[in-house]
Amino acid sequence: MPRGESRLRRALRSAMSGLVLGGGLGLIVSLLPAGHPPAPRLAQAATGQEAPAQAGEDFAYLAERRLLLPVEGVAPAALRDTFNQGRDAGTRPHEALDIPAPRGTPVFAVDDGRLVKLFTSVPGGLTLYQFDPGSRYAYYYAHLDRYAQGLHEGAQLQRGDVVGYVGSTGNASADAPHLHFAIFRLGAERQWWKGEAVNPYPLLSPAQPVPRKP
Ligand SMILES: [Zn+2]
Repeated sequence: MPRGESRLRRALRSAMSGLVLGGGLGLIVSLLPAGHPPAPRLAQAATGQEAPAQAGEDFAYLAERRLLLPVEGVAPAALRDTFNQGRDAGTRPHEALDIPAPRGTPVFAVDDGRLVKLFTSVPGGLTLYQFDPGSRYAYYYAHLDRYAQGLHEGAQLQRGDVVGYVGSTGNASADAPHLHFAIFRLGAERQWWKGEAVNPYPLLSPAQPVPRKP
C-alpha cells in the first residue's frame, strides 16, 4: 500500500477488486496505477457502463466543491431530477438538469474556475462551458437568453458570478424558458466538448440522500 494513499482511494480500490471478482471490469482495474495521486483517470477505461466506484469518486470530488444552485430565486427543494429522462422521443438520454425560471433570471457560476468556451449550438442555443479549478470537470450552461456583459473566454469566474440569463435559445420551447445545466468529467485531453456526464441533482439538492459510496 503506497504511503499517502487516501482512505477514499483504498475504499475505491477494494470496491473495484470486489467488482472484478464479480466479473467484467478487469480492464479498469488493470489501469489503476500502483502509486500516488494524481488519481487515475478512470474515464479512459469507460465502457459505457459507469463503475459504481467512479460515480462515488465523482460525487466525493464535486461535493467538496459545494456547488451553488445556478438560477437565482430557485430553492433546492424545487429542483426536479431530469437527468435520466429521455430526449428526442427517447433516442438519447437527457443527462442534465432542467431548471425552469422566468426569462431573464440571472444564471450564476456554480463554482470558481475558468470560462473555457462561449458556444452557440443548434440544440443548446447560447451556451457556456466552465472548468472547475482542477480542470477535472466541466460545467455546461445552455439555452441562455444572453451572456452577462463583458464575459470572455479565458476569464476566471468566481462562484456566484452572473454568467448570463435564463432563456430558450436552441431547441428549448419559447414558452418554457429554463437553464439546462450539465456536468461532465473531462477526459485526459481536457477537451471542453468531450466528457462523461455526472448527475448534478444530488450535488445541488441537499434534501436528497447522499448516493451510497461503493
Ligand atoms: Zn435540458
